[in-house]
Amino acid sequence: MFNCHIHTKFSSDCNMDIKEAIDISRKTGVGIIVTDHMDLGLYEDGRFTFNVDEFFEEYSEYRSEKLLLGIEIGMRNDYESQNRKIAEGYSFDYVLGSIHVVNGYDIFYDEYYAEKSKKMAYEEYLDFMLNCLKTHDFIDCLGHIDYIARYGRYDDKEIYYDEHREYIDEVLRYAVKKGISLEVNTRRIDDKKAYLNLLKIYKRFKELGGKTVTIGSDSHRASDIEKGLKEACEIVKEANLIPVYFKERKAVEYKI
Ligand SMILES: [Zn+2]
Ligand SMILES: [Zn+2]
Repeated sequence: MFNCHIHTKFSSDCNMDIKEAIDISRKTGVGIIVTDHMDLGLYEDGRFTFNVDEFFEEYSEYRSEKLLLGIEIGMRNDYESQNRKIAEGYSFDYVLGSIHVVNGYDIFYDEYYAEKSKKMAYEEYLDFMLNCLKTHDFIDCLGHIDYIARYGRYDDKEIYYDEHREYIDEVLRYAVKKGISLEVNTRRIDDKKAYLNLLKIYKRFKELGGKTVTIGSDSHRASDIEKGLKEACEIVKEANLIPVYFKERKAVEYKI
């Protein structure tokens, strides 16, 4: 199998040496795709962005059948053309598109949630995601659709399919229409409630015509690399979707 979402030291919030990830990959036989953060426009000092030329200079020698080079692009409509330029201007194997910022607010922080009901905050997030998908239809895969459920400032942070059905369906439909894969991100998957809700979302993706998914642990430390991969495989099987990784921007199917 392939773990398609791993951060290394080119991400501002990560110190992991690529060699640690390669060691684990060799031991377990699980291939990896490095996807460091490129969130243009987030901070003026350039945090959460990296020098792509340096990235390729340093990591190209590690490239192999089991170690591929991708990028996690933070989607936002005001950086659409710059993001496209990066995705298309370099020889990435995989371009993962994620939402970390909604209408200028980093949803990791309080400000985004101030004076918003959960419904308002989550619907604005999903609506923004749909709009970004439309301007970033060059991505290979949509990252962590449930990202906001990590950080929402509410008693119950879960992003329930049943509560946001129309919004989630629109996102899934658009991904299907454009042939964009959906990521099964394992960060919250050990929580039973999250697992069941995510399963519902992936089953709905299948129902709407979705075919392929990637699995990624979104790990920032070596000890998290393998976390949740087993549960993610269960979701993929139960939703009857096809697991893929990307090489030279083309989906490659694998068995789980
Ligand atoms: Zn992310
Ligand atoms: Zn990530």
